[in-house]
Amino acid sequence: MAVLEQLTSQQAIELENKYGAHNYHPLPVVLSRGEGVFVWDVEGKKYYDFLSAYSAVNQGHCHPEIVGAMVHQAETLTLTSRAFYNDMLGKFEKYATETFHFDKLLPMNTGAEAVETALKLCRKWAYEKKGISENDAEIIVCENNFHGRTTTIISFSNDPVARENFGPYTKGFLNIEYDNLKALEDALDANKNVAGFLVEPIQGEAGVYVPSEGYLKAAKALCEKHNVLFIADEVQTGIARTGRLLATCGNCSCADKHCSGTPEVKPDILILGKALSGGAYPVSAVLANDEIMEVIRPGNHGSTFGGNPIAAAVGMAALEVVKNEELAQNAYELGELFRSELNKFIPETDLVKSVRGKGLLNAILINDTEDSSTAWDICMALKENGLLAKPTHGNIIRFAPPLVMTKDQLLDCISIIIKTLKEFR
Ligand code: PLP
Repeated sequence: MAVLEQLTSQQAIELENKYGAHNYHPLPVVLSRGEGVFVWDVEGKKYYDFLSAYSAVNQGHCHPEIVGAMVHQAETLTLTSRAFYNDMLGKFEKYATETFHFDKLLPMNTGAEAVETALKLCRKWAYEKKGISENDAEIIVCENNFHGRTTTIISFSNDPVARENFGPYTKGFLNIEYDNLKALEDALDANKNVAGFLVEPIQGEAGVYVPSEGYLKAAKALCEKHNVLFIADEVQTGIARTGRLLATCGNCSCADKHCSGTPEVKPDILILGKALSGGAYPVSAVLANDEIMEVIRPGNHGSTFGGNPIAAAVGMAALEVVKNEELAQNAYELGELFRSELNKFIPETDLVKSVRGKGLLNAILINDTEDSSTAWDICMALKENGLLAKPTHGNIIRFAPPLVMTKDQLLDCISIIIKTLKEFR
C-alpha cells in the first residue's frame, strides 16, 4: 500500500480496527486535511474542529508560521541528541523562560513525560534541598486528575479504566479532593514528608471542572507555608487556552498578550505540552527556577528527542503566534460570548443542565445518567451538522476550538450547536 494511496473513510476505519490496538474509541470521521479552525474528511466534507486535539492545536491547524519553521528546520538539522549542542535549543529555552518568567527549562516531548519529569524533579529537590529522607517523599495529587498514561501517573489516578490491571503501582502519592483547601491543609499538616502538590488549574479531562475563585492562590500559600512545591500541570490549560497565557495567571484584569505582571499564582514547577508546538510536533517542557532545577545534573534525566532542533524551532514559532495574534485575548472574549449565548439557550432545553469553563475551554453537562450514550449521540449529530466535538467522562461534552477562531465563526458554531440540540431526539 503506497503512502499516498487515497483511502475512503470506511477503508481507513477498517484498517485501524484491524491493525491498530483498540486503545481509543474515536468518532467515526476520518480527517485528511486541516487549516485554521477547519478540518476536512476524506470525502471532502468540512467541519469546525471543536476539540483542537485536546487543546494542542490552539494556534489552528497547519499554521503557516509554525509549519514554515518546522519545514525549514527539517531541511536543515532534525536531531543531534543532547550528546552535542544544537544551535536552536538555547534560543527556544531563552524565549520560553522569558515568556513564562522562569530561570530554566527542561525540554521533553509529550505531556506525560513532562509530568514524569516534574515528579522526579520534585522528589530530588525534596531529598537534596528540603531534607526529606530518601524514598519517603510524598506528592499530593487530586481526585479525578488526569496527567497522562505512564505507570507512575496512572498509579495516582482514580479512574478505574485508566488504572485497572496495570499494577503494581508506584508509591508516594496522597490523593485529596480537588478544590478543597481544608483537605489540602489537613494533608499538609498530617504529613511531614510532603514534597509537592501536583494540580491542574482546571481539570480538563475530568470534565472541565473550574475550581472556586481563589482556590489556586490559597493552595499556593499553603504550599509555601509548608515548604512544598506547587506543581501546575498546564499541559491542557496553558498557552492561552483559558483566556490567559496560563490558567495560573488567574483573573488579573489585563488579558494582555504582553502581560509580564505578577500572576495570580506563580507555580514552583510549571508543566507545558500540547499547544507548546501548536499541535505540529510533540514538544513539552518543565520550567522552574534555579534553586529547584539545579538538582538535575548530567545523567540524571533525559530523552533522545527532547530539545531537538525541530522541537525548538516549532516551540518558538508556536509561542510567537500566540503573542502576535493575541490568542489569549481572543480566547477570553470568545469564551465569554460562548458561555453567555449558551446560557441564554439552556432554559429552552431539558437536554443541557449547564455550561462551564474559562476562555475557550468549556463543557456542557448533558441532562442524562453518567452511563447513557446521549453525549456521544449528540456528538454524532454535531458531526452530521459540521462540528466535531467529543464527550469527556460520561455525559459531559468538551468544547475547545482553536483559539484563532473569529467572532463570526464562533457565532456560526453556536448556532450549529443550538440547532443540533433543538433537533436532537
Ligand atoms: N496533563 C494534562 C493536564 C493533560 O490534559 C494531558 C493530556 O490530555 C497530559 C498531561 C498528557 O499529555 P500527553 O497525552 O501529551 O502525554
